Amino acid sequence: MDLARLEPDVRVVAGACPHDCPDTCALRVHVAGDRVVEVRGDPDHPPTHGALCTKVSRYAERTDHPQRVLHPLKRTGPKGAGQFVRVSWDEALADIARRLGEIAARDAQAIVPYSYAGTMGLVQGESMSARFFHKLGASRLDRTICSSAGGAALASVYGAKVGMHLEHFAESRLILIWGSNSIASNLHFWTFAQQAKRAGAKLWCIDPRRTETADKCHRHLALRPGTDGALALAIMRELIVHGWLDDDYIARHVEGFDALRERAMGWPLERAAAVCGVPAGDMAELARDWGTVRLGAIRLNYGMQRVHGGGSATRLVALLPCLVGAWRHRAGGLLMSASGWFAGVRDDAALQRPDLLGKRRPRTINMSTIGDDLLRPASAAFGPRIEAVVVYNSNPVAVAPQSRRVAAGFAREDLFTVVLEHFLTDTADHADYVLPATTQLEHLDVHTSYGHTYVLLNRPAIAPRGQSRSNTQIFRDLAARMGFREPCFADSDESLVHQAVRGIDFAALEQRGWVKLPLAAAPFADGGFPTPGGRARVTSPGLDVPDHVPNHECSESAPELAQRYPLTMISPPARHFLNSTFVNVASLRSIEGEPLLEIHPLDAQARGIVDGDMVSAFNDRGDYRCRARVSTRARPGVVNGLGVWWRKFGPAGTNVNELTHQRLTDLGGAPAFYDCLVEVRALTADEAASLVTEPAAAMAAPPDAGRRGP
Ligand code: SF4
Repeated sequence: MDLARLEPDVRVVAGACPHDCPDTCALRVHVAGDRVVEVRGDPDHPPTHGALCTKVSRYAERTDHPQRVLHPLKRTGPKGAGQFVRVSWDEALADIARRLGEIAARDAQAIVPYSYAGTMGLVQGESMSARFFHKLGASRLDRTICSSAGGAALASVYGAKVGMHLEHFAESRLILIWGSNSIASNLHFWTFAQQAKRAGAKLWCIDPRRTETADKCHRHLALRPGTDGALALAIMRELIVHGWLDDDYIARHVEGFDALRERAMGWPLERAAAVCGVPAGDMAELARDWGTVRLGAIRLNYGMQRVHGGGSATRLVALLPCLVGAWRHRAGGLLMSASGWFAGVRDDAALQRPDLLGKRRPRTINMSTIGDDLLRPASAAFGPRIEAVVVYNSNPVAVAPQSRRVAAGFAREDLFTVVLEHFLTDTADHADYVLPATTQLEHLDVHTSYGHTYVLLNRPAIAPRGQSRSNTQIFRDLAARMGFREPCFADSDESLVHQAVRGIDFAALEQRGWVKLPLAAAPFADGGFPTPGGRARVTSPGLDVPDHVPNHECSESAPELAQRYPLTMISPPARHFLNSTFVNVASLRSIEGEPLLEIHPLDAQARGIVDGDMVSAFNDRGDYRCRARVSTRARPGVVNGLGVWWRKFGPAGTNVNELTHQRLTDLGGAPAFYDCLVEVRALTADEAASLVTEPAAAMAAPPDAGRRGP
């Protein structure tokens, strides 16, 4: 029932979910006065059809959270202690501009912007901020932390990050849900997969963890982390030897198949089964299904590419639909990302203005190695030591790999750190200044998606809370303080929306809140991949025929390490968190309870661990303490550290990233989060007693929180 119909004082504002989720839901925000009554989905938006996940249906709770940062804050205590005093915007902006100006006068590359997908909005994500850092000549940031291995792989095979339309999975007869807990992190895909299932489709889940999604599929293949490429090659070999290839589609639309055939023939089921740790018979059944069921589709997600060989594995999986001609039909093919479809309407150059760099070519810092880079001295190879970091839309102390080093870097007393935030996160605790940012309900934005093919508009539903300002306004203000005179620094958010996307029906966007891109239903039915030759590619410039690439940390690559640390840890998201967002929303945290490590009963028994024990997961990088959940959700030899909790909510002030490393994937320079060896032990009674289960500092409100006035 629409509240606006029942209560005349309630108005409905069209919006878009800003979070790092492929679904990009269309929102209908119900507002009475300046109060958000409820956040609902838009039932008319075809891919998300009115349903929201639990997380965002609680958005009003997050927006009016008693611990929201509502005023600029200046550090008063040691770095990391989260001790601040309220200051005026004038004081904060003047001091920040002075400090950045002094550093820039020596070498602007010593200033690093650090941002990611805290909002996926084009305007509040990277627009005025990018202009600011381009004008400054700051270091550039390689935004690799989530998806760059898979993205580079898709671009290698298909020419761009393109795939099936989400809605057409409902008509598929066979769906491989590969590296994705869709029920938790791709809810609307799951709705279409269920429709297909009810119509008789067979669903496979390929995932080391027995997820909620695996529970609801017909078959689950719990392979070892980092072995997806071996599985794909074994499927290919079965397709070849059983004559299940679509020779006509391959001949016309695939480049380099002969070399792939040769590679795949080296992967009989038995070899792949030994690598993947699953029965050869299960693999044979999967290959037979893929080779013989028409209308087969793959929903590949980014979990599987967070290992050393994530790029190669993604390339191999992306080739599977080409080999059986699945792309001939709109209900066949693969979807990992749809973001490349927006290339024709997005104008990132207009929005971000790289021309402001002039002839300067600053270095690029990979956000996934920020831990090492913050601690790196100046050198000819690296350039100047990092002297300042400006963080927005991200929480690196919690989410970047090897977080002990990340925290040590942000704890440097000589590092000047500014954080734009809603809350005192682990990263904000290390800031010299915390600047209060608006939430999605308080600012204007426009969105594309990486899971569907619609552009969405987000209108502000309420006035900014307290003294919060939008990211664009904060960078506009800083630009003015720095004396940047280019007219582009005065562009309004409305103007930025129109610069961000072009060639769409803006009247329809403003009237309905979303518009669909005009794309073919079966985009590659007759080839036409966005590669130079129009064909899917086995190889591409600089990339040979893909093969299985073992993990950095496994018995094959690092046998001595694997003896000391015999368990592989993956760190999939807890169902009610999204990366590190929502961890401090009480109703969601109470559902998750506390940081958990799932461990298989056999591994637990071998270590004398019983369900509910406090344990230490450890390796040479650190020690993560949390509660053990003895469960067959973990496969033998693999533990699942559910994330991403803020470190300060961990009973020993750490989270899973205490254990992850900063080595990168084979493609895309991404972190290999799920390529991580550990050992686990039960804590002694004394050790367990010393832990803090709800640290007071984590719950503390910032100074003057709750005061909404200016
Ligand atoms: S997090 Fe995802 S499923 Fe939840 S509301 Fe946002 S886009 Fe929709």
